[in-house]
Amino acid sequence: MSGGDMAKPLLGHRSTEGDPSVTPAAGRTVGVLGSGDFARSLAIRLVCSGFKVVVGSRNPKRKAGLFPSAAEVTFQAEAVKKTDVIFVAVFREHYSTLCDLADVLAGKILVDVSNNTEINHHKESNAEYLASLFPACAVVKGFNVISAWTLQSGARDGNKQVLICSNNQEAKRTVAEIAQVMGFTPVDMGCMSSACEIENIPLRLLPAWKIPIFLALGLFLCFFTYNLIRQVIHPYIREQKNKLYKIPIEVVNTTLPCVAYVMLSLVYLPGVLAACSQLYYGTKYRRFPDWLDQWLQHRKQIGLLSFFCAALHAVYSFCLPMRRSHRYQLIETAVKQALEKKMNIWVEEEVWRMEIYISVGIIALGLLSLLAITSLPSIANSLNWREFSFIQSTLGFIALVISTLHTLTYGWSRAFDENQYKFYLPPTYTLTLLVPCTVILAKVIFSLPCIQQRLLRIRRGWEKGRYVKFVLPRATGEYSSGETSSNV
Ligand code: NAP
Repeated sequence: MSGGDMAKPLLGHRSTEGDPSVTPAAGRTVGVLGSGDFARSLAIRLVCSGFKVVVGSRNPKRKAGLFPSAAEVTFQAEAVKKTDVIFVAVFREHYSTLCDLADVLAGKILVDVSNNTEINHHKESNAEYLASLFPACAVVKGFNVISAWTLQSGARDGNKQVLICSNNQEAKRTVAEIAQVMGFTPVDMGCMSSACEIENIPLRLLPAWKIPIFLALGLFLCFFTYNLIRQVIHPYIREQKNKLYKIPIEVVNTTLPCVAYVMLSLVYLPGVLAACSQLYYGTKYRRFPDWLDQWLQHRKQIGLLSFFCAALHAVYSFCLPMRRSHRYQLIETAVKQALEKKMNIWVEEEVWRMEIYISVGIIALGLLSLLAITSLPSIANSLNWREFSFIQSTLGFIALVISTLHTLTYGWSRAFDENQYKFYLPPTYTLTLLVPCTVILAKVIFSLPCIQQRLLRIRRGWEKGRYVKFVLPRATGEYSSGETSSNV
């Protein structure tokens, strides 16, 4: 990179000069009705973006001091007269109090910025309600997904998208231009019927995360109970030993990797099921069942939760030697060995097992971190499809294989040791291996040339029972694995 390149800022300020789509908006007078938090932040941002601002308040004298001196604060009717675009920064319940202004508002653009307190709170959206009160105005829904804080701190520090909808195309374009000059990215959501959806957006609580979180919690609960029975209840019933102290750290720390490992395999299982379905029906044009569709769409969140559990497992494992119980046990073992006059306690096999176990664990966590980082939109957007697919599909599968090695080196020969079966329950790690090993086996089978070729042909549009002359691309790297097809 040349010195000149380095001198340029990575994220430069986008100049609007000479851009015909934004120039007309800058410098125009914009009105704001209301003098609350949102109105104040909006006025500051508009002034900073080069607009003339006139604020309409019921009590302008009292509120004027709250606004920048460049903004004019006056009575509502006066403010409305001075501009064609008015942001209505008052709550829906108070819209009717603006009806006296209907005559002066006629023919003007009203921007409805309001939100509700509950999803689908009213039968009609706030914007539609405003439009019904002022039929002579062009109502645009927008800016409600931007908080007063984001408006004040500027578009650099928060959500940049402003979702806009209206039945009036001209009014929508004007508001989009204003948003653009303010540094936001207007997103056209179509006509007014989308207002309800836009108003529900700020009220949604992690909609894409609900199923993955319930899945993770369900798995955690199952594995926690299983480990509790094996590590705490069994010694209490069989040997009258109190091992309750194990619950906060040891039981949790044996549960977390189980959840992380199974969740990681659940990221790749739907792709395997989708491939099976495509192979079975001999087409990619048959719709997957809804549950599989949903599962495919939630893979990112499932993967991130797997990473979260793996990271917690790493921290817990790191802290294990800090526990007092661990120190007592070490001293106890040392005293026992001294009494038994044992000098050499080095077990070569155990040493190697632990070295490999920890090493592969670190590599698996490193790969999971890479997957998590590249799934962030800003990073994912900087990758092309091949790079993204290589990291998420190929490296992700390698992470699953390495996690399997981590689990196997942890378990070692315990599955064949009778004493490890508590109440006839096998060691936990044997259970966790079931789904990941099925996924790995299926992926190996799919990589057999005869099956891989058939899958590739199906994903290129070939269908069983329909004769189409088909030539496969010579560059086999075009599709590197199952997940790279358009719909899987
Ligand atoms: P606020 O601080 O309570 O301000 C509401 C303003 O409405 C008052 O300052 C008042 O200004 C005006 N108003 C007009 N007629 C009124 C009446 N009859 N009774 C009471 N007040 C009346 O609320 P806000 O937080 O600024 O929110 C305003 C709108 O922006 C709401 O629809 C909200 O959903 C939306 N919004 C807010 C945010 C946010 O972060 N705060 C984010 C997105 C959307 P005057 O006394 O000067 O007339």
